[in-house]
Amino acid sequence: MTAETFTLDRRHLMVGALSSITLASGGLMATTTSARAQAPEMLGASKPGHYRFRLGTFEVTTLLDGLRPGDGPHPIFGANQSQEDVAALLAANFLPGERFVNGFTPVLVNTGTDLVLFDTGFGAGAPEGLGRLAAQMQAAGYTPEQVTIVVLTHLHGDHIGGLMGPDGPTFPNARYVTGAREYDFWTKTAPGTQAADAAKNVEAKVVPLAEKMTFLEDGGSVVSGITAEAAFGHTPGHMVYQLESEGRRLMLTADTANHYVVSLQRPDWEVRFDADKAAAAATRKAVFGQIAADRIPFIGYHMPFPAVGYVEPLGEGFRWVPATYQLDL
Ligand SMILES: [Zn+2]
Repeated sequence: MTAETFTLDRRHLMVGALSSITLASGGLMATTTSARAQAPEMLGASKPGHYRFRLGTFEVTTLLDGLRPGDGPHPIFGANQSQEDVAALLAANFLPGERFVNGFTPVLVNTGTDLVLFDTGFGAGAPEGLGRLAAQMQAAGYTPEQVTIVVLTHLHGDHIGGLMGPDGPTFPNARYVTGAREYDFWTKTAPGTQAADAAKNVEAKVVPLAEKMTFLEDGGSVVSGITAEAAFGHTPGHMVYQLESEGRRLMLTADTANHYVVSLQRPDWEVRFDADKAAAAATRKAVFGQIAADRIPFIGYHMPFPAVGYVEPLGEGFRWVPATYQLDL
């Protein structure tokens, strides 16, 4: 302690309720403890990272790989619409027109026999705030070694990035499942096209695991109670998965709809990420039309976390209805 320490105004010692401060002049450290309660320093925004519920005898956990703020949704969403029309739809839904946040939500399903992971997030080396699947799994009570099956709904980077770490496969005891048509597209057709960069990522992350991979067709089964359905358009072999246990059903819609307002309320509006715009729109209407008719819950990879909800028909599309306590009963 030096005399200089004691000349500091008490208010300065309280700033931010810091218990210690470094004196810039001379680099001396002074420590003090607040004598009376102070508001703590601001910690920044916080979000839950996992959400678990029961579906029959299954346990389903959604995991937030991360959130990515960015410009838009237009022209990523509503690519063939005016900025004004997209902004008006967003405003009517209490959303801004210039910025949006995209979320990424892998799902774990414990069937009692298998621990099945649907999609893997961005993985190590992802931009700040993304690639958090491993940490979220740990917080939710699981280890990568416990995963017995990894299902890839399609082979875009935000779904396959977590397959491989610096030391090899992230899920060492898993076998893998993806759509036959999806795998064929990325390994046979995409190289040499404008999708070549994404194909290189598939080559690095997915192809080395092909020996342990099962390739499904429409209606194919992952395990008892988990069934693939063709939902082509977003990518050539994109698939959705139906879970069913003790008569309870839930759809994993993956990237069939990627913005909870724009994609669901205006399923015909074009989305930049959809490989075949018309097929993707037809698939959106078919998949969500069925979910709405059946009145069953669904999980969408890019729906607002915890990404579980329902849809009701609204105009030319659907309205997103977030789940509340339906699945806790
Ligand atoms: Zn995606």
